[in-house]
Amino acid sequence: MDYSGSCLCGSVKFSFPFDPMLQFKCHCKVCQKVFGNSLHALAMPLDELTLHGDLSRNTVTGGSGSDLHYNFCPKCGTFIFNKPDLLDPMIYMLAGLLHGQIEFSPTVELWIRDKPNSMPEAPTTVATFDDNGTAERLTEMLENLDQRS
Ligand SMILES: [Zn+2]
Ligand SMILES: [Zn+2]
Repeated sequence: MDYSGSCLCGSVKFSFPFDPMLQFKCHCKVCQKVFGNSLHALAMPLDELTLHGDLSRNTVTGGSGSDLHYNFCPKCGTFIFNKPDLLDPMIYMLAGLLHGQIEFSPTVELWIRDKPNSMPEAPTTVATFDDNGTAERLTEMLENLDQRS
């Protein structure tokens, strides 16, 4: 099925045709600052995303030490996705933008040593990492990308 979502003001709209490759939470200190809480995200390749509307961009150094590019609506400031240099061409779409089309069920949690006590581990989580454990995992999935289309 096609999934779709938008920012708060509706200036940015997007859709994508496949299930996300991975649903995960990131508890790192950078996410705590940027989002005010842990990141709840859906990982997918950028070229599967159809975007309408302009995005503003800000680049920071992520918890893993490589650059993260934050893409957000210039009008309402809603974050749409992060693009980590570490995992080109993957993006981390914010799970809350999807109008409830996907019930967020993360299987992986990252940087759990920085996890706030108020944020319980999800019942669907099967793997937790003290640091950024996604790189190898997503690289493996990328090798199987052609099976999605
Ligand atoms: Zn907006
Ligand atoms: Zn993080």
